[in-house]
Amino acid sequence: MGRFAPSPTGPLHFGSLLAATASYLQARRHDGRWLVRIEDIDPPREQPGATGRILEALERYGFEWDGPVVYQSHSQSAHEAALARLLDSGHAYRCGCSRNDLADAPRGPLGIIYPGTCRAGCPAGDSAIRVRTDDSAVAFIDGLQGPQEQHLESESGDFVVWRRDGLVAYHLAVVVDDHEQGITEIVRGIDLMDSTCRQIWLQRLLGFPTPNYLHVPVAAHADGQKLSKLTGARAVPLGRPEKLLVQVLSALGQQPAADLGKASLREIWSWARENWRIEALTGRTRILVDSNAMAEGKNGLL
Ligand code: GLU
Repeated sequence: MGRFAPSPTGPLHFGSLLAATASYLQARRHDGRWLVRIEDIDPPREQPGATGRILEALERYGFEWDGPVVYQSHSQSAHEAALARLLDSGHAYRCGCSRNDLADAPRGPLGIIYPGTCRAGCPAGDSAIRVRTDDSAVAFIDGLQGPQEQHLESESGDFVVWRRDGLVAYHLAVVVDDHEQGITEIVRGIDLMDSTCRQIWLQRLLGFPTPNYLHVPVAAHADGQKLSKLTGARAVPLGRPEKLLVQVLSALGQQPAADLGKASLREIWSWARENWRIEALTGRTRILVDSNAMAEGKNGLL
């Protein structure tokens, strides 16, 4: 069982279309189910209307998901129950440190390395909740990128599972929802690979099985920067999706015939399902594209 889990922070762009296509084809090629979950747990970062635009684009491009779209904001009671278990078992604790308090904390590639200030207790007042880590190796074998390992205590320190503003943090929400939905295979962008060990850590503390992970390359501009709202990635065009879908397949290393773009969406998907080989992405981390050309319906593969 696979899934696509976009955050409604902007419309679907080529990079998110790429991740959606890879997870969809990987599920369908193996006769698996595929779900869409809108990760709307961070209202301050949401863009009004983005959910509708993402779903409309997925429909126009011919994705067929199983069951109704799931909204992460509707699983608050499951998130709270998981938090209560972490607190009751002593795996999580309140942390009153403000951003200012942590200004001098060491930093690493994962961000601030929490120095453990509130491990032994913190004064009452506004607080986040952190999960305890230790320095044993958390490892997994990524289906495309090979063996990965982190030592959480020294690389991230105890990390936040519930934010100071009262909202659930991404790592806890994603782990609980993937478990609740029975997701067994997570295909997503490689930009999320360094989150995976923290998520596996939470799965272990909560007694959830760990799904298989496959991190696919991210689409990047010619200068190597990942396509995102911040780097000016354009929304995918909704007219004539066939042409862009074939570019997505080429970008994913699938070698569609040059005239496949003239076929119907149904025929393109059926070719893609039959011929899908995720192995073509093994070890790849970036796919360079010109997102402006793509938004105008032109060839944008660099
Ligand atoms: N909602 C996350 C994002 O859009 C993806 C979460 C995931 O695939 O695990 O970046």
